[in-house]
Amino acid sequence: MPIIVQKYGGSSVADIEKIKNVARRVAKSRDAGNQMVVVVSAMGDTTDDLIALAKKITAHPSGREYDLLLSTGELVSCTLLAMALDSIGYRAVSLSGAQAGIKTDTEYNRAHILGIDPKRVVNELNAGNIVVVAGFQGITQDQDVTTLGRGGSDTTAIALAISLKAKECHIYTDVDGVFTADPRLVAEAHSLSEINYEEMLEMANCGARVMHPRAVELGQMYNMPILVACTFNEKPGTLIHGGKDMEVKNKVTGIAHDMDVAKIMIVGVPDRPGIASAIFEPLATAGISVDTIVQNASIENITDLTFTVAAGDLDKAMKVVMPIAESIKARDCISNSRLGKISIIGAGMQNTPGYAARMFTTLSEKNINIHLITTSEIRITCIVDDDRVSEAVRALHRAFELEKP
Ligand code: ASP
Ligand code: MG
Repeated sequence: MPIIVQKYGGSSVADIEKIKNVARRVAKSRDAGNQMVVVVSAMGDTTDDLIALAKKITAHPSGREYDLLLSTGELVSCTLLAMALDSIGYRAVSLSGAQAGIKTDTEYNRAHILGIDPKRVVNELNAGNIVVVAGFQGITQDQDVTTLGRGGSDTTAIALAISLKAKECHIYTDVDGVFTADPRLVAEAHSLSEINYEEMLEMANCGARVMHPRAVELGQMYNMPILVACTFNEKPGTLIHGGKDMEVKNKVTGIAHDMDVAKIMIVGVPDRPGIASAIFEPLATAGISVDTIVQNASIENITDLTFTVAAGDLDKAMKVVMPIAESIKARDCISNSRLGKISIIGAGMQNTPGYAARMFTTLSEKNINIHLITTSEIRITCIVDDDRVSEAVRALHRAFELEKP
């Protein structure tokens, strides 16, 4: 019997009725002749609530206690789902991450899966059980519980699917699949029937929130087909796969956006070796991830260095950067937190000219100013004022004819 791994996110198991709905869906896949492994997130906003509880006691909880606390959210949902399955006549067993053999490193709060020992899961499957696994958690060599970082249940599901050599991994959520653009901004946006790993990774990294980038990367590495679909209807969803036989129909596959971008510009920087590392090393040490970086061509050995961070990280980043700017004798350090980014993404753009031009023309026709531009082989990103992002996404969706299926 083929093994299918299904993951249900927090909104899919937010209350008892929803958990019963998930049980019925799992039962249906089981009836279709599959061995079922189900990974769940914590119910609704449980993880946020647990974090708030810890914060009421201390601003700096120990990593070990914090992770053991957060892991309890997923224990609640996985045990309840096992009971719900049992109550409709399907034998099920719930397992914590540790019981499911998920081994991690010791980086509390953002642990990495080192490997999975699937023995217990396989035994339960062979005994005829549906296996329900608590997402987002694992265990260190010293038997301490860790969590994988926010949104980590996607990673649990993909990693389990890989280690069990599952046929497919299904990610169930509250939207119909991966959309051409955020349907809250663009009325004509529609769910894609398929997308390849590379494109999905760019979409996820550029603000599309449907799947965690780390999980997509893992799927790509092991070529695990991932179906993203809705828990609350029977629509087919979006298949994320290697895309070998995907002839390019529409060269732009989708548009991703992110409203919370801030820019830091260090003006009048002496252009000599070591400057970039003097700035970016301390940012990395402070745990601030830097996105777009642009350095201007220097004039008389003086240049400007501009980069973006998440808007929420701006204050922290400025505290790190200001003293450095002073010590390297930069002329000024300016920030702007009211920015957003828009990315057009499509594997078919590779080696085809004209996409960047069309994007810039579309934005200029709307009189939208571009602050920064970056590209990869399959993506063009523009940083614009945040209050123009919605309009820009709509205009680009039309310009690249994404409304056509
Ligand atoms: N419950 C965790 C979170 O909210 C993990 C997950 O949902 O994937 O981040
Ligand atoms: Mg969640």
